[in-house]
Amino acid sequence: MAEEFDLIIVGSGPGGYVAAIRGSQLGLKTAVIERGPIGGRCLNVACIPAKAVLRSADIAAEIREAGEFGIEVGEPTIDFAKVSARRVSVIESLTGGVAGLMKKNSIEMVEGSATLTGNGGVKVGERELTSKRIILATGSVGRPLPGLDFGGQIIGTEEAWALDKLPARLAVVGAGASGAELASAYVRLGSEVTLIEALDRVLPSEDADISKAAARGFKKQGIVVLTGSPVSAVEHQDSTVKLTVGDKVVEADLVVVAAGRGPDVEGLGLETAGIALDDRGLIAVDDALRTSVDGIWAIGDLVRGPALAHKASDEGIIAAEDSAGLATHPIILSDIPRATFCTPNISSFGLTEAQAIEAGHDVVVGKVPYGAVGAGTVYGDRTGVVKLIGDRKYGEILGCHICGAKAPELIQELVNAKALEGGYPEVARIVHGHPTLSEALMEAARAADGWLIHG
Ligand SMILES: Cc1cc2nc3c(=O)[nH]c(=O)nc-3n(C[C@H](O)[C@H](O)[C@H](O)COP(=O)(O)OP(=O)(O)OC[C@H]3O[C@@H](n4cnc5c(N)ncnc54)[C@H](O)[C@@H]3O)c2cc1C
Repeated sequence: MAEEFDLIIVGSGPGGYVAAIRGSQLGLKTAVIERGPIGGRCLNVACIPAKAVLRSADIAAEIREAGEFGIEVGEPTIDFAKVSARRVSVIESLTGGVAGLMKKNSIEMVEGSATLTGNGGVKVGERELTSKRIILATGSVGRPLPGLDFGGQIIGTEEAWALDKLPARLAVVGAGASGAELASAYVRLGSEVTLIEALDRVLPSEDADISKAAARGFKKQGIVVLTGSPVSAVEHQDSTVKLTVGDKVVEADLVVVAAGRGPDVEGLGLETAGIALDDRGLIAVDDALRTSVDGIWAIGDLVRGPALAHKASDEGIIAAEDSAGLATHPIILSDIPRATFCTPNISSFGLTEAQAIEAGHDVVVGKVPYGAVGAGTVYGDRTGVVKLIGDRKYGEILGCHICGAKAPELIQELVNAKALEGGYPEVARIVHGHPTLSEALMEAARAADGWLIHG
């Protein structure tokens, strides 16, 4: 006999578990099917472990800089086993929290691999579940590059954050957000790191000025940055891998491929259920995350837009509310804040300067270094930079790009201003506390409005 639920969710990552809680709040009898650990990849192998290891690297870097602040402590000793143990304990604490939330909201957790059987049916081992509402939230998996298949010393980002031994020489292929975070963490923990990017700059999807500032920061940390050439040959030698990149040869003990991901749909039964894909091979959805099949929604890394945890969670709320027949909010994909937690921190949303020009806006740029405001000097990051992109006609904020300390926290102010229909002339006249780095955002808004005070 099939077990009936009001809502079935496949996957317990930040998309799936948030959708489940919202569904349960709306009175739906909800089940979540998960074949791996609760919390999905975000909590277990991606965002959270990455940030836990990066935090250790940040502390090591601060200790190295302590002399500048009058505190002499010498070179720190890295106990990588303890770094790993802390990573595991952070994961356990957060996944335990999600398990608690499932219980508190009376959500049934079903362990196993889900396969859609059509007409609202889902098979999990011997069990059959049915529902008029199914939300797919199975996330994404890392993709290898041609000639760099995973195996042996060639690993993906998830394995790279789960290492229990610090590699002496690490090559990271792909200088997007994931690759930049890995390089910046491991170099500061003591590995020799080469960061390889086929395109002509690191963080190639960021604004060009931000890529430049980030590259300067990476080189200062000791990362060898190779841009503009793909890996053209790979040679395995005992415990070493040799990569040919342009006219250089990079020798490494471990190679991490951080160059793209694809939807995790193997065995999910999309064809049986008749679910259509879009031209990028992702599940095709409308604004309310409805797939081509009535009663089935898809969210998170399975669908278009930036592959980010908070985007997955927001889509989980939209899909759950829509499935319950509620009017819900739209999602503006370009205004979702993006963050890279390397050093220097990078964060952005909206259009880059080049995109704004290409889109035909009357572009105005407000650009200030952190050093323009007191906090940059007080806290020791004068090189950070805020670049606000606006449209002159109505003072609209089109985007903002930050490279420097606390960028992922700072960006939210302008995301909120834009969402509340505020423009840069308004941000320029909102009183900001002193001395804070957020004053640099206010000054960037003033610069865009033509009356920069500090600079
Ligand atoms: C190294 C790394 C670092 C990242 N850092 C950040 C960051 O700092 N901030 C950020 O916002 N984003 C970050 N991301 C992206 C973020 O991890 C993803 O966008 C997010 O996890 C997507 O959430 P999701 O709910 O769609 O899927 P996931 O978190 O991938 O969860 C999907 C779940 O579905 C389960 N599943 C799959 N198939 C089935 C099946 N057939 N049956 C049952 N269960 C199934 C899987 O086991 C998994 O647990 C990072 C990604 C990587 C790789």
